[in-house]
Amino acid sequence: MNALMQSNALLISKLLEHAARHHPDVEIVSHVNAQQCERTNWRQVAQRAARLASALQARGIQPGARVATLAWNTHRHLELYYAVSGIGAVLHTVNPRLFPDQIGYIVNHAADDLLFFDLGFAPLLAQVAPHLKSVKAFVALCSRAELPALDLPGPLLSYEGLVAEAEPLAQWPELDENTASSLCYTSGTTGNPKGVLYSHRSTVLHSWAACAADGLQLRAHDSVLLAVPMFHVNAWGIPYASAMCGAKLVLPGPDLGGERLFTLMRDERCTFSLGVPTVWLGFFQHAEKLDAATRAELCLERVVVGGSAAPRAVIEKFEHLFGAYVIQAWGMTETSPLATICNLLPRHEGIPLEERFDVQVRQGRAIFGVEIAVFDAEGRRLPDGSHTPGELKVRGPWVVSAYYGQEPGASLDADGWFDTGDVALIDKDGYVQITDRSKDVIKSGGEWISSIDLENLAVGHPKVKEAAVIGAYHSKWQERPLLIVVPNEGAQLTSEEILGFMQDRVARWWMPDDVVFVDELPHTATGKLQKTRLREQFRGHRLPTDVPGG
Ligand code: ADP
Repeated sequence: MNALMQSNALLISKLLEHAARHHPDVEIVSHVNAQQCERTNWRQVAQRAARLASALQARGIQPGARVATLAWNTHRHLELYYAVSGIGAVLHTVNPRLFPDQIGYIVNHAADDLLFFDLGFAPLLAQVAPHLKSVKAFVALCSRAELPALDLPGPLLSYEGLVAEAEPLAQWPELDENTASSLCYTSGTTGNPKGVLYSHRSTVLHSWAACAADGLQLRAHDSVLLAVPMFHVNAWGIPYASAMCGAKLVLPGPDLGGERLFTLMRDERCTFSLGVPTVWLGFFQHAEKLDAATRAELCLERVVVGGSAAPRAVIEKFEHLFGAYVIQAWGMTETSPLATICNLLPRHEGIPLEERFDVQVRQGRAIFGVEIAVFDAEGRRLPDGSHTPGELKVRGPWVVSAYYGQEPGASLDADGWFDTGDVALIDKDGYVQITDRSKDVIKSGGEWISSIDLENLAVGHPKVKEAAVIGAYHSKWQERPLLIVVPNEGAQLTSEEILGFMQDRVARWWMPDDVVFVDELPHTATGKLQKTRLREQFRGHRLPTDVPGG
């Protein structure tokens, strides 16, 4: 028997209409660059998106066409999010931190028709543009007067010119909710980047998860500093979820330095922020220099840390310096990205802070909509609470089914699971603990050592800025952990000091066999440690424990 309820499609345009109607004056603060700050609101975002949408249609953008952006977090990028998807076209947010070759590859692979770019990316675009095969016109995110002189293989338009030339769209089209809405490529640490194509339906469902109380608790009360770029998995869905609940958005533009983030949080009364661990390490480089009275000027309540494991030190510092609660979240481009979120259970109420941090360093529990399970090497599902880590698999309505260009379901196993490539434990309460990416796990004498656990421990030392652990060749054990450390500026740190600090906090056989100090570590385009590079760099490293005949 069919139900007798309305079955209105879940559309991205509905989110914007809702925000414009019910939260019209809620501010969107946009730092276009160091000199220029624009203040707008949900009403104006909706009005300008409707103009941009009809300008796109007038320029021949058809449903299904791909529109690329090379842009920071600004109000214009936000308008593009709604205008492009709203008319049934696909917003392709390109990560400008990728190598130019990779950018060329993905724009060609997506066959983007138009490319919108921030002025700061003009030199990058000049390098990439001659290799682009499908782009018919380039749009600079600026006014007509600010248009740069650029030699491009196609017309160059100004964003403000486009918005000004069009009458606003009278009505957003009633699309099928399974229509593609946006496209993000994984950063391609292994092989070429792969495209993940989201739908209106997956995006709206994911927004509800972000707003849920045991999700990210996003709500109208919040002023959100979006320190995760809008080219990194749709800024973790926050541009959509903020419209759903009417939150204020603070868009920082290109400067994600610690001082700028602190200033924005203070001036815009931010209650909520999100970012990868590297951003927060930079934030504390600044924040720790401030006196207590200055720090007390913030009214930060919650900070989402994801993209890489949240170091315990970051969780502790947010609590101790700002009284802010770190919500760790785990996910990936393929999961939109929210999959597990670390909130507390009733039995954690009133527990000592140290024990609470023990919970917060985990990646969290599955939110409704995402099923999770861990499997052993033979493909057997491991029960929650088992002590052996296994391959983490996920499924659900905002999890990828196939990469762009493949047949639906091509990335799933026979039971509909997507293999994340992460190795994890799930405890008896359902909290996930990511122990490694499967290719980063250190295999020592047939046992696994978690590089993430060791890194988190090392970063807990007050003189350590960042740390990485990789497996180095050992003739007896195959691999043993090598710790690579970036000390804090000006800090004098010795191997004995750091190993002494780690010694009582980890199983003896997990202890790194050697420590190397470096000035910086290589990162991927999404701010993760680039272990492949490190492994190459230290391929010939000779461990002091690897003595002939030992
Ligand atoms: P890429 O940077 O390769 O484009 P994603 O941003 O999609 O990819 O990264 C997803 C991966 O990031 C996950 O599979 C996992 O390894 C890692 N990751 C994300 N969040 C966390 C977290 N909270 N803790 C540990 N690892 C995480």
